[in-house]
Amino acid sequence: MRPLAHLTLGAVFSLVVYLIFPELGWKSLIILASTILIDVDHYFVAVMLTGKFSVRKAYDYFIETLNDKKLLDKRKLHYELYVFHTFEFYLLLLILSFSYETALLILGGVSFHIFLDCFNNPRKERMSIIHHFAKRNKNAIRN
Ligand SMILES: [Zn+2]
Repeated sequence: MRPLAHLTLGAVFSLVVYLIFPELGWKSLIILASTILIDVDHYFVAVMLTGKFSVRKAYDYFIETLNDKKLLDKRKLHYELYVFHTFEFYLLLLILSFSYETALLILGGVSFHIFLDCFNNPRKERMSIIHHFAKRNKNAIRN
């Protein structure tokens, strides 16, 4: 899902949460921010793969590879890890949410984001840091 779609749907989601829990006030913006900022891990992956720090070039990299099957297949060979989209990150937020309200709000935004991702770009094979490194090491032994 493109960033603008995440922003739009995240705004609707955080507005709905605000209407249900008006006592949240400005804190509902934390939910909105987390629905978008979770994708910063895509930027980290693009920087690692391209060696360029430009946000625009990172965005273009993903758009180009999505539209080109050859490039997309090549991309998969790099064992991309989207650390904020993993079970471990989610578990960390869940544990922190018992003690910190901010973590609970971030968890809400992240949950909504991942819910949307499930419909648009499911990456079941990259949903765990442990699985990522286990698979990476297994492939390294084969080569
Ligand atoms: Zn995402």
